[in-house]
Amino acid sequence: MASSGPTDELAPQDSYLSTAEGHVLEVTDGGLFLDRTVFYARGGGQPGDVGTIAWDGGSVEIIDTVRKDGKPLHIVAEGSVLPDPGTPVEGTIDWDRRYLTMRTHTALHALSGVVYRDYGAKVTGGNMTPGEARMDFELDGISTEFGAEIQRKLNEELIKGYPTEIIVMAREIALQDPDLIRTKVNLIPEFVEEIRVVDIKGLDRQADGGTHVRSTLEVGRIAVVKTESKGKANKRMRIRVEGGN
Ligand SMILES: [Zn+2]
Repeated sequence: MASSGPTDELAPQDSYLSTAEGHVLEVTDGGLFLDRTVFYARGGGQPGDVGTIAWDGGSVEIIDTVRKDGKPLHIVAEGSVLPDPGTPVEGTIDWDRRYLTMRTHTALHALSGVVYRDYGAKVTGGNMTPGEARMDFELDGISTEFGAEIQRKLNEELIKGYPTEIIVMAREIALQDPDLIRTKVNLIPEFVEEIRVVDIKGLDRQADGGTHVRSTLEVGRIAVVKTESKGKANKRMRIRVEGGN
């Protein structure tokens, strides 16, 4: 069994998978590389998955997943006993945490879509944890009242149940798409020839490798919990995902 090679990453293909079988490719730097994995590697503002990797005779807790040498590295706690390269394994993510992250991530798309549609303001930054997130906008000003208005508009949109579609398109096509230009598709490294686009039809469309829920209905309700100025043309909103789905 080869000790290196690519990893078949299942999360971008099917966000709703919580478990998958594979083999150990390599054991290195406090973690494992697999030939096939359900774990999402931290990136694009989305945190890496946690969970367990089990094999015949043992299992190990995965405390984070990051991208290293272009592949997901499943990080383990120091002192963990690890399987040998070639060992068949089954990976299982903490699904509750991932699903909450998917709802949070989809909420950020809806937020950026509403703010651009109604105020023409672009996103300048953002980050998320499972259930909470922040996003920065090129707005001249921000206030608690503005936050409340956004919260109302956002929840009005989410409940309409916009479907989330994943489209893979050639780089040269993506570079001509106005929505993708606005969200800086040109910053994706040139060796990436196929661009994965997340299209929440009518609300938001951008190049993105993360995991999302199938419909904005699954997001639930969003609360805008804080608004603050982070400098000229850089206004921050913090949101929290609330309620069922
Ligand atoms: Zn996304």
